[in-house]
Amino acid sequence: MAVTWTQHRFSGGALALDAANTVVLRGDAARTFDRFEDPAEIALFAEAATNFRAEELGGRALAVADPHRIAPTVLAIRETTDELFREAAAAEGTIRTASLPAFLEACAAGLRGHASFAMAPEKLFGDPETPIALEAALAVSALSLLSRVRRLRICRNCNWLFIDRSRNGSRLWCDMAVCGNRQKARRHYRRRKPVTEEHEHA
Ligand SMILES: [Zn+2]
Repeated sequence: MAVTWTQHRFSGGALALDAANTVVLRGDAARTFDRFEDPAEIALFAEAATNFRAEELGGRALAVADPHRIAPTVLAIRETTDELFREAAAAEGTIRTASLPAFLEACAAGLRGHASFAMAPEKLFGDPETPIALEAALAVSALSLLSRVRRLRICRNCNWLFIDRSRNGSRLWCDMAVCGNRQKARRHYRRRKPVTEEHEHA
């Protein structure tokens, strides 16, 4: 099934979290699905992320030479990022060292073999004049999350990971317009109908 890469799919607040969120409804074996199941989608994700993540990327475009070749590297970064930071988000920003080696190895594979670039604190992704390989950018984005673990949250509606940039750090939803409204609609529905008639499959 072709994916429409809308802004909502980039609600994670960081490229690496948007990638982690390409697995929908994690933890729900009956309904979960993978938007990267067709590797061709990886290239379309990169194209959309170049636009929606332009601020994080410092305006550097993402490049995908061959989605089938990089798929294993991309998926390894995606899965280890999700595992490490989902655990951290659930534990108020605490990281367990047991989850680090696989994550760091996946990030290393994303960076290996690509042209070196300078990671300045305010310009993590290097010079925007040339494109950066998606897997290298994913690695940089994922590693940058290590310094922001206290702000990582799990959306109460869709289970996505996101960075909470609210002033008091109390955001509950990845995207207020989508998940926030769904929760509100559900509460409204509950008030009017008996709970037994409820349909939670939003
Ligand atoms: Zn959500």
